[in-house]
Amino acid sequence: MTKVTALPKTAAPVEPAGTDAASGSAPEVSSGEFREPLIYMDYNATTQVAPEVIEEMLPYLRDYYGNPSSMYGFAARVGKKVQEARERVASLVGAHPDEIIFISCGTEGDNTALSSALASYPGRHAVVTTRVEHPAIKNAAERLGKQGRRVVFLPVDRQGRLDLDQVAESLAEDVAVLSVMWANNETGTVFPVERIGALAAEAGVMFHTDAVQAVGKIPIDLSAVPIDMLTLSGHKLHAPKGVGALYVRRGTRFAPFMVGGHQERGRRGGTENVAGIVALGKACELAERRLGEERERVRVLRDRLERELLARIPGTLVNGDVENRLPNTTSLSFEYVEGESILLMLNEHGICASSGSACTSGSLEPSHVLRAMGVPFTAAHGSVRFSLGVYNTDAEVDLVVEKLPPIIARLRELSPFWTPETAAACTRASADAS
Ligand code: PLP
Repeated sequence: MTKVTALPKTAAPVEPAGTDAASGSAPEVSSGEFREPLIYMDYNATTQVAPEVIEEMLPYLRDYYGNPSSMYGFAARVGKKVQEARERVASLVGAHPDEIIFISCGTEGDNTALSSALASYPGRHAVVTTRVEHPAIKNAAERLGKQGRRVVFLPVDRQGRLDLDQVAESLAEDVAVLSVMWANNETGTVFPVERIGALAAEAGVMFHTDAVQAVGKIPIDLSAVPIDMLTLSGHKLHAPKGVGALYVRRGTRFAPFMVGGHQERGRRGGTENVAGIVALGKACELAERRLGEERERVRVLRDRLERELLARIPGTLVNGDVENRLPNTTSLSFEYVEGESILLMLNEHGICASSGSACTSGSLEPSHVLRAMGVPFTAAHGSVRFSLGVYNTDAEVDLVVEKLPPIIARLRELSPFWTPETAAACTRASADAS
């Protein structure tokens, strides 16, 4: 049995020393033990590679290993398959195939977008983004700040929403790029990127969106929204880790991040990860098919999970903008308990979820996202994100609904902050909310 801790007595929240995204270390959640069957509800962290995707990519590992840049027919076949994948990715997001650049991951896309904009507009020195971005943007922007750029992190309100007037005001003449995520990885909050893109276009500022969590979960049509660059990542939509795509609208100024060979029409050097690209193409084709009924089925599962947990556990808050949210995500705060302890006890039942974001779960401090939203200290510590997906079932939701309430009750018994007064306050608040 793993050690269980109550809410730590540290007072003021401090910035985590380094997220695992920054340091490359794995989150220290458990000893590596896990129970079968697995109840996987952490689709925003990563997803299972779909069997259809594995099928499609295998020949490009085993048989068709030619370099797509080579001149013979054996390689040309590989090149054609890469092109097919480009068309499939483009189709999912309403882009032209030549607007898609294959990259290694979402982090590369985010870093590329910022550096490309700054290199393309040498007279402009500022970057505008938000306080709730993934570390792939947050840390890249912070580094630019240390290198002397002006960086603006726009605040959000208690629901994690941006003030669009503030967005407009931030777009001064020296701004090279505005980068706002399409959907938040922790809370699922969806930003109005269409309107934000329009503001950027009006101000003549390049607009990038980190759509790593949005692509495959909600419909995206880039032919209808004013977005210059968009990042997506394969492992969030049932392709393997290590492949992604950056969309760059035709006519947008672009400066490569990685220089080398002439791959990707000179926009990204490096021999293509062919099997990964083929997999991403197939995953996008599957995602396009699943955007209708399948998405609705996941939403119904998520809503039931959330509703039942709220009804059974007093002192539970939903984080984020529930009106504008990804259909698969719920971020719940259980007051007066510690999120990591909840995860460890869920792990005993084979249930996989995440506290804050997967990328900050190695830290015991509340995530920067919840802090930016002003979630109270007693609730931010006890936050758990459930992110569901196509392989989840009703029976799995039932199991979580059965197992979680006694876990919270037990942890609260251990918490020095859980007193008859706080318990009564939680019960009253839950009764008022229902
Ligand atoms: N952006 C968001 C919103 C994410 O959720 C993630 C991963 O969690 C990333 C970027 C980074 O993507 P990758 O893991 O492919 O580098």
